[in-house]
Amino acid sequence: MESVQALRQYFETGATQSYTFRLAQLEKLKASVQQHEVDIFEALHKDLRKSKEECWITENGFFLSEIGVAIKQLKSWMQPKKVTTNLLNFPSKSYIVPEPLGVTLIISPWNYPFQLLLTPLIGAIAAGNCVVLKPSELAPATAAVIKKIIESTFDKNYILYVEGDGATVVPELMNNFVFDHVFYTGSTAVGKIIYSLAAKNLVPVTLELGGKSPCVVTANAHIDIAAKRIAMPKFSNAGQMCVAPDYILVHRSVKDALIDALKKNIQSFFGDNPQQSDYYGRIINAKQFDRLCQYLQDGKILMGGQFDHTDLYIAPTLIEITDLNKGIMQDEIFGPILPIITYDDDAAALKIIAQHKNPLAMYVFTNNTTEEQQWIKAVPFGGGCINNASLHLTNHRLPFGGRGASGLGNYHGRFSFDTFSHKKAIMKTPNWLDLALKYPPYTGKLSLFKKAIK
Ligand code: NAD
Repeated sequence: MESVQALRQYFETGATQSYTFRLAQLEKLKASVQQHEVDIFEALHKDLRKSKEECWITENGFFLSEIGVAIKQLKSWMQPKKVTTNLLNFPSKSYIVPEPLGVTLIISPWNYPFQLLLTPLIGAIAAGNCVVLKPSELAPATAAVIKKIIESTFDKNYILYVEGDGATVVPELMNNFVFDHVFYTGSTAVGKIIYSLAAKNLVPVTLELGGKSPCVVTANAHIDIAAKRIAMPKFSNAGQMCVAPDYILVHRSVKDALIDALKKNIQSFFGDNPQQSDYYGRIINAKQFDRLCQYLQDGKILMGGQFDHTDLYIAPTLIEITDLNKGIMQDEIFGPILPIITYDDDAAALKIIAQHKNPLAMYVFTNNTTEEQQWIKAVPFGGGCINNASLHLTNHRLPFGGRGASGLGNYHGRFSFDTFSHKKAIMKTPNWLDLALKYPPYTGKLSLFKKAIK
């Protein structure tokens, strides 16, 4: 843990605090990511068979867009914010100063192994922190490129890159060093471990977790567009996306039309044999592959269902589900298998959604604005879309995060800066006025207090 102690010492010198320092680090990181573009493409292809285009939208391009916002906005984010003062404290002035938290730990998963480690880092640097970065061990090619980027860009007393098996490395880090914040992205099960490790020392956490995100297609939806907008994110990265539509609830009156439109669009995206498509990914490893293949027995296959173990390939699959007790409707799927469940009335659909409380995302497809609002209000969830799926996370002006079992806290754009900052509240009171009224004895003052404090 000596190496992490060095971050504490470095942080305490105050070196990370100035605007010029923070800006320079963001610019260096941006340039390094740009320089390593080809390495990043190759690594993500190796780990997950991602195409360059998909990498750009969801990994390095996404990262560059976020860091561009941070570089542009940093000065204004760092400004103390004046707020009005209550009457009792007249003539004081009040303001909020964003301050770095200190030494932070960022832990990421394997599905967007580049972006999910480095996007939180933007917020941590912008807010003036030192950082320990812990990537997923399950996307090794991408981890190797990130290591190269980080170690060639930053001093290890400022940003420290630590690899290894999460179950060993993370408890070792968190039991031997009191971090000022832990930012974790990954499964809900491991999120609970992180939360309890942090609780021992009252370390604040951000938890970006998963869950079963429902996608409702009502009788009033534009079916062709809905099918296209669902199929794209569901089968991007072979469905290994935290905000992918996990399952579809479709109104009986439009079920057949939706299934036809989904089939047509999947075929047009990936051709007759998606295994040959340059734009269709692979499952990360055999363990995930075997878990996913079991779900193929949980309903009636409407399209796809083929798999190839040697290539970690599972075809984009539509599966009709009638038995909600099957595994496919118990766990987060996190793969290219899309269950379709028919509903007749909204109450029945809401009951199904309620079996997995607080999903990370929810999507509603309808052309009826009253209906759209009813669905959005009826379900507590992290964030979502109306007549779209998953793309809300690409708007940096929206906070991205879950609630309850799907997470705690949020980030992206300005929200990342806020997540990695403490908001220090300051009131400054001048000396030219000091009303005796405020001080004891309070005899006869209650009615005045009642006027001033209400
Ligand atoms: P995971 O929880 O297995 O691993 C995530 C990280 O935790 C890795 O760095 C890993 O090394 C570490 N880790 C693993 N076991 C640990 C342990 N016992 N103690 C401490 N650390 C440990 O998650 P995953 O399988 O890599 O990712 C898939 C999950 O992540 C899905 O549930 C998905 O929904 C979720 N996810 C959420 C988001 C989001 O933004 N909300 C984004 C991507 C993925």
